[in-house]
Amino acid sequence: MPDQRPHVLIIGGGFAGLFAARKLRKAAVSVTLIDRGTSHVFQPLLYQCATGLLSEGDISSPLRHLLRKQRNISVLLGEATDIDAEAKTVRARRFDGSSFDLSYDYLIMAGGARQSYHGNEAFEEFAPGMKSVDDALAIRRKIISSFEIAETLPTADLRRPWLTFVVSGGGPTGVELAGQIREMAVRALAREFDTIDPTEATVVLVHGGERVLESFHPGLSAKAQRTLDKLGVETRLGLHVTDVGTDYAVTTDKKTKATVQIDTHTVLWTAGVEAVPFARAVNTAAGVEPARGGTIPVGPDLRVAGHPEIFAVGDVMSLDKLPGVAEVAMQSGHHAATLIKRDVAKKGDAAAPFKYRDLGTAAYISRHHALLQSGPIRLSGYLGWIGWGFIHIAFLAGGRNRVWTVASWAATLGTGGRGERAITFGDPATARRPYP
Ligand SMILES: Cc1cc2nc3c(=O)[nH]c(=O)nc-3n(C[C@H](O)[C@H](O)[C@H](O)COP(=O)(O)OP(=O)(O)OC[C@H]3O[C@@H](n4cnc5c(N)ncnc54)[C@H](O)[C@@H]3O)c2cc1C
Repeated sequence: MPDQRPHVLIIGGGFAGLFAARKLRKAAVSVTLIDRGTSHVFQPLLYQCATGLLSEGDISSPLRHLLRKQRNISVLLGEATDIDAEAKTVRARRFDGSSFDLSYDYLIMAGGARQSYHGNEAFEEFAPGMKSVDDALAIRRKIISSFEIAETLPTADLRRPWLTFVVSGGGPTGVELAGQIREMAVRALAREFDTIDPTEATVVLVHGGERVLESFHPGLSAKAQRTLDKLGVETRLGLHVTDVGTDYAVTTDKKTKATVQIDTHTVLWTAGVEAVPFARAVNTAAGVEPARGGTIPVGPDLRVAGHPEIFAVGDVMSLDKLPGVAEVAMQSGHHAATLIKRDVAKKGDAAAPFKYRDLGTAAYISRHHALLQSGPIRLSGYLGWIGWGFIHIAFLAGGRNRVWTVASWAATLGTGGRGERAITFGDPATARRPYP
């Protein structure tokens, strides 16, 4: 007999989609969660995967496994590509390129964001972003192979561009990545090479703002800067990366417009995000003007105007300038599901406004140094580092991942080594774009 229960379709199994799915566990609905990957990825630790501290398995959990005990849900692998908001159907592409349709009574769009190159899409080929496991592995391949290539070159002049790493963007991801490349060079790699001295690796952090980590209190960001300086990261402020090629990056001073070329084979991009492509399809189908970065504007109850059955949550939604952070995603996913439950049960306020509870934010700088900011509480250094560790373990999905991550951290602290340095040699272009 066909399922008579209202059907909720969730696009994306990140923080927002997963929290929405879990909230619907006991609701009188059937749920389909579709994701273009098989796993829920813990993006805040991607940089540790990129720099050999953690494996891709440590920071991702199979969605099927996470939701295995939920009887009312089906998990599908596929990429939503199109939507007919009148017919209430979504077209999705299978991994092999063929398509299928999914109908819905309620749609929760939780597709998240991707890296933005601010109109310079050509940069992507030379400067991978940091939004997926594929990105993290591509970055790992770039970093490790740079040291390996430098080891084989006869002169310092030839080696220098391979040992120069440019990170564009001084937000948490850029700072974490720059710090970790230096830490990897001076601790894990220092004694393993014969020709090169990895500790001489230059890491240049380029940031357009006046200080790194601008979302933190100025006092905390100054402390982070001192830690980066001690670690040997060269921070260049007030600059944008305005050109990138196979062996160079060009920076332009925002005020004077003076340009500088840096000879490098490794440019990593963390400067900016935009909504995933499917957001455009949703905006067009619903007849709404896209918000900043192509995000989906929603009302206070997270619904898209004119379509009370469509919700947008997490990084892909635009509401009151809420930041693109995991807490917003988890809470908004949970709220959208709560409203659907109320709607179906005809009980409670099904249009209650979303109220975000800011529980704080954290950023890792280096071993024994992290920032933690929550209301009036501001921690840095060792205390911040302990707090950062607890928060990340608490939100990492899956017991196995928590245990392995703590074990990997302990091993790295104890030995200084990094065990996850394997690289694969697939075609980076296709490896980073699994769908045709
Ligand atoms: C490197 C990095 C570090 C970060 N560090 C922190 C931090 O320290 N603290 C913090 O609070 N936040 C941090 N964030 C931000 C945080 O990770 C995001 O705010 C959060 O992941 C957003 O959750 P989401 O569910 O909206 O989107 P995502 O987690 O991006 O999930 C979206 C999901 O949708 C899927 N998807 C996308 N398009 C489609 C489609 N068309 N069809 C099917 N599936 C699709 C994707 O595969 C993905 O699984 C960080 C982000 C990054 C990238």
